[in-house]
Amino acid sequence: MPEGHTIHRLAKDLNRSLRPGPVQASSPQGPFATEARQLDGLLLERAHAYGKHLFLDFADGPTVHIHLGLIGKMRPKEPGTGIEGAIRLRLESDDALWDLTGPMTCALIDPADVADITASLGPDPLRRGARREEFVDRLGRRSIPLSAALLDQSVIAGIGNVYRSEFCYLVGIKPSTPAKTVRVEAAEQIWDLAVDQLRLGVKLNRIVTRTPSEVGTTAGRIDEDNRLYVYKREGEPCHRCGTEIRLSEIAKRKSWHCPTCQK
Ligand SMILES: [Zn+2]
Repeated sequence: MPEGHTIHRLAKDLNRSLRPGPVQASSPQGPFATEARQLDGLLLERAHAYGKHLFLDFADGPTVHIHLGLIGKMRPKEPGTGIEGAIRLRLESDDALWDLTGPMTCALIDPADVADITASLGPDPLRRGARREEFVDRLGRRSIPLSAALLDQSVIAGIGNVYRSEFCYLVGIKPSTPAKTVRVEAAEQIWDLAVDQLRLGVKLNRIVTRTPSEVGTTAGRIDEDNRLYVYKREGEPCHRCGTEIRLSEIAKRKSWHCPTCQK
């Protein structure tokens, strides 16, 4: 599933390529056709993200709420590209074309709905004004394992399986540790990491958690096999201590850690 950095990057790219509009909207696949007709010809006022939720505000019109879910994709295509696959929503301007396929959610909503959705979420480290204290407070109230709490969107918005595994490693805490026993300083460290890491993720449009100096290159040049510490690295040596990375199951989700670096 795409994590928050992907959705924030998407909002940035959509703002850059489709504003100031007008935007032609269509739903070649069908189920969103009536809604797409309502949007057709409107100006895209702003695309913005909160956690894994994407909102497209149209001037004097409704907001499109998109959640990509597990398999959804929203991708730029060459203008003039024909219809390929099940395209739920196509947005076009004179020189840009975006196709949305396979979303978990694609719906027209009003400002009250936007407020309800965002009120259900924890602070998003990529949003201006997001408060570290709020995250620390919410984390401290959960007795579930740390790695499960970091996936809970009402604790922190935008974190998925890759970042949560990597954050536990980077703060040196075992993923199974109950969230409420994590010390305040460590919780603050997790938040600060999230802010830095997700910002880098937006910039690079991919997740790179390794410290560039350890790899001997820049973050942008770290190759696919070297960009993470633990995620999907079971059986391989820890980049820092050489111990085999271990795979376990926590709250029914796969979780990775280094038994030496994470006590
Ligand atoms: Zn290690």
